[in-house]
Amino acid sequence: MKAAIYSEFGGPISIETVPDPTPTKRGVVIRVEATGLCRSDWHGWMGHDPDIRLPHVPGHELAGVIEAVGSDVGSWRVGQRVTLPFVCGCGSCPQCSAGHQQVCDRQFQPGFTHWGSFAQYVAIDYADANLVAIPETIDFATAASLGCRFATAFRAIVDQGQVRGGQWVAVHGAGGVGLSATMIANAMGAHVIAIDIDDQKLDFARTVGAVATVNAQNTEDVVAEIQAITGGGADLSIDALGSPTTCFNSVACLRKRGKHVQVGLMLADHQHPPVPMGKVIAGELEILGSHGMQAHRYPAMLAMIAAGKLKPEKLIGTRIPLSDAVTALPAMNRHQGTGVTIIDRFA
Ligand SMILES: [Zn+2]
Ligand SMILES: [Zn+2]
Repeated sequence: MKAAIYSEFGGPISIETVPDPTPTKRGVVIRVEATGLCRSDWHGWMGHDPDIRLPHVPGHELAGVIEAVGSDVGSWRVGQRVTLPFVCGCGSCPQCSAGHQQVCDRQFQPGFTHWGSFAQYVAIDYADANLVAIPETIDFATAASLGCRFATAFRAIVDQGQVRGGQWVAVHGAGGVGLSATMIANAMGAHVIAIDIDDQKLDFARTVGAVATVNAQNTEDVVAEIQAITGGGADLSIDALGSPTTCFNSVACLRKRGKHVQVGLMLADHQHPPVPMGKVIAGELEILGSHGMQAHRYPAMLAMIAAGKLKPEKLIGTRIPLSDAVTALPAMNRHQGTGVTIIDRFA
C-alpha cells in the first residue's frame, strides 16, 4: 500500500510503498476513504509524543470500509462503513470497564501508538470496543472529521462541561476544536463568545454559532472584555488551542463556580502553564481535562447531526490527495486557513 511516512522527527515525509497491514485477532483493517490533518500530527512529527516509534505513518481522524476482520472480532464484518475515536480503548482495563475508554490504560491510538491513516489501509486493534458504524446519510469526509476535534469538543462541552441552555461559553481558539465547540455549545442553547487573533476565523465562528467575538491581538485585556460581554464572566470556558496564554485567559475569564476545560494539547515547553490558582480557590472554579470521546457516546452526537442540529460538514476546509500531506503536515503549526483539511484520495 501507499503511505506517507517519516523516519526522523522533523525530517522529510515521503510517499512510499509499504507492506499491507493485517488485522490482529481483536482488530480489523480499514480501507481509508478519508482522513483529517490535525495539529496533533504535527506534534507527533516534531517528536513531542513519546509513543511514536520510527519510522512512522501519521493520521488518526479516519473513516473507511472494513477490509479484513480478526478471528476474535464479534460485531463487525467486511464491507461495513466505519469510523472510530482517535483514542481507542482496550475494552478490558479498569477505565474501559467503567465506560471511560477515552482514558484507557492500554490505549491504541492510530497515528501515535501505531501506524495511522495517512495510507491506503490502516490496522485498528480492539475493534469491538471502538468502531462506530457510519450512518448512510454521513459521507466519509464528514465522518473522518468527527474522530478527533469534533468528538473531543462534544465531550468537552456536553459531558465534561455539562453545558446548559442560556449559559455563557467562552471558546479560546477558533481552529478545528474551537469551531466545533462553538457549533456544539450553540446547538445546546448556550451563548458562545469566540476568541482568536484572526478576524477571518472569528467571522467564520459567527457563521457556526458565536454571538460575540474577541480579537485577542487588538484587545488590551481579553479577560476584562469577556467579563464585560458576559456580565461577570463565562459559565464554561474552553482552551481549544493549547497555549499558556489561552489556558490562563480561559481560567481567568470564568465567573464564580465556572468550569474550565483544557482541550488544546499542552506539550513540549507548554507542559506546565501558569494558572491563576488563587482565583480557582476564591471562586470555586473547576478545572477539567477532555481527551477524545468514547465510541459509546457517538450515538448522541450522531443523533444531533441526523437532526440537523450539528453540521460538522461546514467545518471542512480543503480536500487534498495523500501526496500533498508531505507538505501540508509540516505546515500544520503555522497559521492555517479556516476549517479542517481532509485527505480523500489515496491512489
Ligand atoms: Zn486530531
Ligand atoms: Zn482499556
